[in-house]
Amino acid sequence: MPIKLKDLFIICESVEKIIQWCFSLGLILDLSGEVCKKCSHGHFGLRKDSSFSNDIFYWKCSNKKCNKKVSIRNGSWFQGHNLSLEKILFITYFWIYKIDQEFVKHQLSICNQTIVDWYNYCREVCIEILEIDSEKIGGENVIVEIDESKFGKRKYHKGRRVEGQWVFGGIERDSKKSFFASVENRTKETLLKLIKDNIKPGTTIISDCWKAYDCLGSEGFEHLKVNHS
Ligand SMILES: [Zn+2]
Repeated sequence: MPIKLKDLFIICESVEKIIQWCFSLGLILDLSGEVCKKCSHGHFGLRKDSSFSNDIFYWKCSNKKCNKKVSIRNGSWFQGHNLSLEKILFITYFWIYKIDQEFVKHQLSICNQTIVDWYNYCREVCIEILEIDSEKIGGENVIVEIDESKFGKRKYHKGRRVEGQWVFGGIERDSKKSFFASVENRTKETLLKLIKDNIKPGTTIISDCWKAYDCLGSEGFEHLKVNHS
C-alpha cells in the first residue's frame, strides 16, 4: 500500500527516522556488521557526527588503524546529490503523484533548475528500469497495443544527453506485460525491427493509424488500426 503524505511527514521528522525507514525498504544499504573492503578486518557500524555531512550519519570501520568512512548514500537513490534526504523523498513522492513543479519548488524552497533536473531524473530512471525489465510479449490470440507517441522524446539516455530519442513501447492488453525501447528515429525500418525483436509472431497488434505499420500483415502479425481522434 503506497504511503500517504501524512506518513511521509512523520518519517521525515528526523534523519534517524528517515534512515530507519530507508533501511526497512532497502532504499539505503544497511552495512552494519559488513566487513570493511579496505582493511578486510574491521566491520562497519553506523556513527553519528553532524560534522561529517548533512546526513549526520555515516558508516565507519571498527578498525581504528583503518578508520574508513562511507556515506550512507552509497549505491542509493540519494548518491551524488546535494539535497537533503528529506527533500529528495518529498520530490520523489510528489513526482509519483504528478504534482506541479511550481508547487513543489515553493513547498521545498528549491530553485527551478533543481526541480526540473529531479523530475527528469525520476522519469529517466523509470524508463531505464522499464527497458531493463522488458520482455518479448504477445503470441497467438494475444492483443498488444503499441505506441510511440505516448512516451514522447527523452533528452537523456544512460545519464548522457542525447539528441531527442523516442521511447517506444508495447503492452499486452490482458496481462500488462510490456516492453520499452529507445530509438533514434521513427522510420519504418526501425519500428519494424523493434516490433520483430519484442513481439512474438501471430500477435494481434493494435496501433494508431500510421502507415509505417501497414506492412505488419505481411510480417506475420495481425494489425488492427485504432484511429485516435
Ligand atoms: Zn577498514
